[in-house]
Amino acid sequence: MGTDTLLKNPRSRFLRVRCNDCNNEQVVFGNASTKVECSVCGRLIVEPTGGKANIKTQILEVLE
Ligand SMILES: [Zn+2]
Repeated sequence: MGTDTLLKNPRSRFLRVRCNDCNNEQVVFGNASTKVECSVCGRLIVEPTGGKANIKTQILEVLE
């Protein structure tokens, strides 16, 4: 923690999520402007909604 990347983007957050379909865990960007799909099964994980991403699966942890 405390990397340069976080300092440049103080409002950005990464979320650790688990796919509702296949239970794959992956880390996604909370302010994603493009949709993110599960890397294993292709299920929609993050849907961009004009600035704030809409997380479509369960969030396990917020990484700050
Ligand atoms: Zn999946």
